[in-house]
Amino acid sequence: MAEMPYIDLDKCDSCALCIPVCRCGALVLVNNVITLIETEKCGWCCECEEICPLSAITCAFEIVFADE
Ligand code: SF4
Ligand code: SF4
Repeated sequence: MAEMPYIDLDKCDSCALCIPVCRCGALVLVNNVITLIETEKCGWCCECEEICPLSAITCAFEIVFADE
């Protein structure tokens, strides 16, 4: 199973702002509910997390710099 961002549907108001920023088409509205389609193409760009005005998307992927 591909790792994907997490959407908190209690926060999401289905504004759809996140859909056009997703480069892999993983975000769609299904019956007016934002839905993530699992895809290996998710580039973990986290644009969806950044654009969401309600902080409803959490991108699990953080860039961590290893100690030198
Ligand atoms: S992290 Fe990027 S590619 Fe993945 S679902 Fe969000 S916007 Fe789409
Ligand atoms: S931008 Fe945020 S509030 Fe709007 S549809 Fe996407 S997850 Fe929901």
